[in-house]
Formats: sequence, structure tokens, C-alpha cells
Amino acid sequence: MQNCAIVGINWGDEGKGRMVDLLTQDFDVVVRYQGGGNAGHTVMNEYGKFALHLLPSGIFRPGVVNILGNGVALDPENLWKEMEEVTAKGVPLTPENLKISDRASLLMPWHRDLDGLEEARLKDKKFGSTKQGIAPFYSDKYQKKTVLAGELLHPQHLREHLKDLLEWKNLTLTKVYGAPAVTMDDLEVWLETYCEKIKPYICDTGAFLRDAQKAGKKILFEAQLGALRDLDYGIHPYTTSSNAIAAYAPVGSGLPSAKLDAVVGVVKAYSSCVGEGPFTCEMFGAEAEALREAGAEYGAKTGRPRRVGPLDIVATRYGVQVQGATNIALTKLDVLSYMDQIPVCAHYELDGKVTDEFPFPALLAEAKPVMEYKEGWKCDISGVRTWEDLPQAAKDYVTYVEEQIGCHIGYVSVGPERDSIIVR
Ligand code: GDP
Repeated sequence: MQNCAIVGINWGDEGKGRMVDLLTQDFDVVVRYQGGGNAGHTVMNEYGKFALHLLPSGIFRPGVVNILGNGVALDPENLWKEMEEVTAKGVPLTPENLKISDRASLLMPWHRDLDGLEEARLKDKKFGSTKQGIAPFYSDKYQKKTVLAGELLHPQHLREHLKDLLEWKNLTLTKVYGAPAVTMDDLEVWLETYCEKIKPYICDTGAFLRDAQKAGKKILFEAQLGALRDLDYGIHPYTTSSNAIAAYAPVGSGLPSAKLDAVVGVVKAYSSCVGEGPFTCEMFGAEAEALREAGAEYGAKTGRPRRVGPLDIVATRYGVQVQGATNIALTKLDVLSYMDQIPVCAHYELDGKVTDEFPFPALLAEAKPVMEYKEGWKCDISGVRTWEDLPQAAKDYVTYVEEQIGCHIGYVSVGPERDSIIVR
């Protein structure tokens, strides 16, 4: 694997962080290519437990160069706080192992404000945003109303650009939402407190990646969230505001000429979903509570209880297809060990007909799950390290999923720790 993307197949929170942390042993460079601080990758290793929001998950491996690509929503405040947390636990961060693209757009303080103001305006029609400013950020990026990280290296130009943006943005803040205006003094504090701190890490990461490619280095492209949250292919409008699919990796990383030769899709052995929107296979009541507890399904960023359900074969097959996955990592199989029978959403019923096609977003809310039940294994599998040692019922569950989604399951994860993995 020279160029490999690691992506989520479902709604996010599939366990991508632990897989990137594991796979980085075979790679020289890890690039985050989209998204911002609105979701978290949880990683557990010799340094401790981390909820990474912006930093690439390769940051713990000595010798690995980590890049924040031009496609990310670069929030200097969140990034600096995260860098401080990580270094406080003994992880070295230097301009050698962390590089920020000079072409990444900066998430401005007003993006977070606007996110909160719009959710408040929407009241009961809100999207369930994490209020990290992601939607306002990407809207502004596409309007070319953002500042590139590289502009921080050119202070005179930066001040003039900021003045123009401020004048424009204050129209929306004050006249549309009746919120207080942001001043240049506010921005100076923001520049001094956060932007100055990240400046040493900003460089032409495109040039670095091109050289790395020429030198035959192995590059891992890391995504945030999953296929069903992709702006173009997800469950519109309950998606994120960027492209979470592997096809965007070359564009968002800074290496647009890259050809991916492997796409590892991460699928959780059951489903979870944060925020609003249709979630066909959702469980409720005591059944949901038991699964949420067993899987510790609470948001890495917000601590919100996640909505949970059984594995959704229809959505997962669709996710595999849009991601172009070549290999699957099935995570959290150990969480299902308490169940007598494992429920699976095998098909959907729509308009009175059973279907295996993932519906058009506007019709999704009408789809009903068609359930099947698989035999449980009812024993602790968290210590298992080989396929042969898995109980037969667990093997049957994995091979059933593999056949249904049409992609080889090469990794089965049975715990959050780095070595709790079965490679097939
Ligand atoms: P990500 O955003 O896709 O990286 O997912 P999250 O970090 O939000 O959620 C994954 C959670 O599950 C984290 O708390 C991980 O430590 C944990 N985890 C990952 N793989 C496994 C596994 O195989 N078994 C168990 N029990 N926990 C896991």
C-alpha cells in the first residue's frame, strides 16, 4: 500500500482513530484532508487516552510526518488547545512531525458564533450541529471569504484582508442575527493568542507531499466522519459540510495527482449516529440503553449520548460503494458479546416493498428496517488475537457481514487498545 485512505463507512464514530493509530506503523506520512474540530477520533496507546479533533492520528508515532491538508477547517484556537493537551502528556510536536498547509483556510471566531446563532434561529428544525463553526466556515470558503493559513506569514497583507472580511461579516452578525459586531481588536487578541502559536508549523505541504511521493514514501490519508455524512453523497441535509469520502483525499490533502491504491473502510459491528436526521435502524428504550452502555456511545467532542442501533446492511453496503473500499476494518465486535441474539437491519421496506437500495435522502425518513437475528456468542472475546480463536458464532457474524456488504473484512477489532486486533 503506497497511498491508502482510511475512511468511515457509516455516520462516523466507527473507530477510525484507533485504526489510523494502528496502521501508521506502515506509513511515513499521515494527512488529514477534510473536516474540522467537530468530531473526535479516540486513540489509546502508551501515552494515554486521547480525543483528537484536528491533529492527525499518526502524531504518536516517532518518525511519522503528520499534515493538516488544505481541505480541513483549520481552527487555530481548537488546534492550539489540542496541541497543548497532547504535549502535556509527553507527545513531542515539532515543525518536523506536524505540518500545516499554507493553503488551509482558517476557521474564524465568528464561524463558531454564527453556527450557534443559526441553530438557535432554527429552533426545533435545528440540524444538531456541534457548533464548531463548520457549516459557516465551508460556506465562506466557497465564497472565497476566508483567510489562508499562509497569510499569517504576511502580516501587512493579512491585516488588510481581515479588515475587508470584518466589514462584510459584521453585516450578517449585526443585521441578520442582531449579534454584537466583531472588532479588529478582538481579532488582534485571537491572532496573538492562537495564530502566532501555530505559525511555525505552516508551510507548503503540497511541495512536501510531492517530494515524499517522488521518494517513494507511503502516505495515509485520514478522513473524519463517514460516507453518510458526506456533503454530496450523504443523508442531505444532515451531512457535514465537506466531502468525507476517499475520492476527496487527493484534493483535500495537497497531492491532487495522488492515486489511491487502497481504501480501508471502517465499519462498527453495530450502528451509532450523532445529531438529528433519519436513522432507520434506531433502537429505543432499554435495548438502546444496554447497547449504548456496552459500547460507551457518548460523543468524543460533546459528551452527548449517541443514538444507537444494530448494524445497517443497506446503509453499510452503500457506504462501501461510495467509498470504493478495498478492505474493511470491523470494529467493536467485543461490544456485542452480551447479546443472546444479534439483531441486524438486513433490508429496508419502502412504499410497502422490501429493498436493498439506499433511498434518496428525502425518502429515507419513510424507510422501515427489515430485521434478521444472528446467533450470539455470549463470551468475552476481547483477548482473542487470531481468527481461529474467535467463537464460531462471531466468525459467522463477520462472514455474514462480509458477504452482504461485498467487501473483504481484513481487520476485526475487539478492544480499543492498539493490539486488540485480529488481522485476517
Ligand atoms: P472515530 O471518530 O471513528 O475514530 O470513532 P470514535 O473515536 O468516536 O469512537 C470509537 C470509540 O470506540 C473510541 O472510544 C475507541 O477507543 C473505541 N473503540 C475503537 N475500537 C474498539 C473496539 O474494537 N472495541 C471497543 N470496545 N472499543 C473500541
